[in-house]
Amino acid sequence: MPFKQLGLSEEILRSIQKHGFTAPTPIQDLAIPQIFDGTDLLVEAQTGSGKTACFAWPILQQLAAQKSGGKKVIQALILTPTRELALQVSAALSQFGEFLCKKVSALTVIGGESIAQQTQTLAAGVDIVVATPGRLLDLIGQQILSLAHLKFFVLDEADKILDLGFAAELELILEKIPDTRQNLFFSATYPSKVLEIAKRISKNPVPLKIDDMAPTVDTISQRVILVNKEKRGMLLRHLIKAECWRDGLVFVSSKIAAHNLCGKLRKAGINADALHGDLSQPERNKALANFKTKKTHFLVATDVAARGIDIEKLSLVINYDLPRSPADYIHRIGRTGRAGETGLAISFIGLEDQEHFKLIEKRAKIRLDREEIAGFELLGDIPEKVRGLPPIKGKRKSKKDRARELKRT
Ligand code: ADP
Ligand code: MG
Repeated sequence: MPFKQLGLSEEILRSIQKHGFTAPTPIQDLAIPQIFDGTDLLVEAQTGSGKTACFAWPILQQLAAQKSGGKKVIQALILTPTRELALQVSAALSQFGEFLCKKVSALTVIGGESIAQQTQTLAAGVDIVVATPGRLLDLIGQQILSLAHLKFFVLDEADKILDLGFAAELELILEKIPDTRQNLFFSATYPSKVLEIAKRISKNPVPLKIDDMAPTVDTISQRVILVNKEKRGMLLRHLIKAECWRDGLVFVSSKIAAHNLCGKLRKAGINADALHGDLSQPERNKALANFKTKKTHFLVATDVAARGIDIEKLSLVINYDLPRSPADYIHRIGRTGRAGETGLAISFIGLEDQEHFKLIEKRAKIRLDREEIAGFELLGDIPEKVRGLPPIKGKRKSKKDRARELKRT
């Protein structure tokens, strides 16, 4: 079994077999032996490349190999930017740990769920905590939770944790963690700010990188549809029917947009739900669970709410609103076409999005044709501020074109 070379135990191999995995993903191949060696790592690999297992397998295995005795102390902390991701990582830990002879326990420490329950479990002792920063600090502050014996510190979706303004909270958490820990960072991207913090808080971390952005999109066919902003709702409803889309994840830029679009789709008889930060935790869990089990066909979500969430066999992703950063574009479309399956990613581009989308293409090293759908053609002029030459099919702007543009402004 190819996994054996990574140094994984029989017990972990059994769960891998149960999952039906036949070979490690490239990043698992690279990272897992080094994690066993105790090295600090900065792992950079695209969404869907199997990063969770990279840290879950070695941590579970090493904790299971310890002699038991005495009350359990927290030895591993996995920080995630969202509650959903924390729940997903916890679920992965419990699945991957299914066959361990010595049980390794994990607790999810997130807001929106009962503090009493978390306190009770902590009092009984746990090995691993999977947490979002806020609630974790709460429990540390109340001295309900101690990280004094921590051995593994994992930041999952590291870029997003820092992006969401958790940097100050991270500093507070770090003060409570012993210096002699193994630091493991996982992310699809490392903006310089993240890199700087990662390097500061860990010991000569080894950067491990699989591919750059471009190959992410190999199994994903990407379509770009020109449409005026106000026609997008109608176009989406039209396409769902005309192209017989069964299900998909629709990205919007705000909570309110998620709420509104979901309402519009429902009115048109489309089975849709919304996932965003204004919903209560049980509502968020339910929306996600229903989408995963295909009870809901279309999930309208914000980036933050959907970050890192792994949905099996997601065949369609729609950028109803474009993401702000090119990295987020890759993250979003990386949700489809996983594990060799083909997927479809669609972006709606309005008049004001043209320049921004060009930047995304440049950074992702792609160049996509623009389509128009009959009855929904893009009308009007590109706003003065972002006016460029109309896109030329399959051809980059020449230096002359760019010079001409400069002259016009
Ligand atoms: P990432 O964190 O890199 O976005 P995940 O850890 O969420 O990716 O994994 C994406 C999917 O790939 C999950 O459904 C996971 O179970 C699956 N997976 C992980 N490792 C393998 C493997 N070696 N072979 C096949 N599928 C795998
Ligand atoms: Mg992940």
